Amino acid sequence: MTETVSAPETSSLRDSGGDLIIIGPPGAGKGTQAKSLAHENGWVQLSTGEVFRDHIRRQTDLGRRVKGYLERGEYVPDDVTVRMVRAKLEDISPSTRVLFDGFPRTVAQAKALDQLSGEMGRHIGGVLLIDAPREELVARLNGRATAEHRADDTPEIIANRLDVYEEQTRPVISYYEDRGLVKRVNGVGSVPDVTARLREAAE
Ligand code: AMP
Repeated sequence: MTETVSAPETSSLRDSGGDLIIIGPPGAGKGTQAKSLAHENGWVQLSTGEVFRDHIRRQTDLGRRVKGYLERGEYVPDDVTVRMVRAKLEDISPSTRVLFDGFPRTVAQAKALDQLSGEMGRHIGGVLLIDAPREELVARLNGRATAEHRADDTPEIIANRLDVYEEQTRPVISYYEDRGLVKRVNGVGSVPDVTARLREAAE
């Protein structure tokens, strides 16, 4: 009998040499975690939400175009998002590893990223998924709304953002799971606890 060789489970995201994606529902703490992971590994963090907020602050054309979506907790259209990511990647050497934070959020964006990566001599080495139950996310997002006065954190908008995540972003996880690229991490606990789990998952 011949031995079946199954698709390799990602042995090490760190050694994969490719770009990494951090994905998770709003409130899972992916921004905070992405920042420390990128910092300690010398990766470049590309947070699409941060880039959009920066354009809004600077009142650029792109900022004016995307402001309403962010305020309503809706996704910016794929073509606008992908164009922005393409422009960012054009300034980053293929040998520099990127940690995508908040991108891709739709299957169309994931496909566009594959295409872009191919064109630019890059590839996706792995996906870190931070997950947490909805009640926990709602509690955290409500807390953040009070602390940071974020316009996209009212209770209705929080509920909407979680629904949009379930509908549009969950399928992105399956898209990468089919390629054996996803490492799942429990997002419940303190920030340092989750950081430690992510570190282990990236080994
Ligand atoms: P974040 O900081 O990742 O929570 O993103 C804040 C907001 O920016 C989201 O609620 C969306 O309105 C917008 N946004 C960020 N990344 C994307 C993306 N990949 N696709 C569409 N909209 C995005």
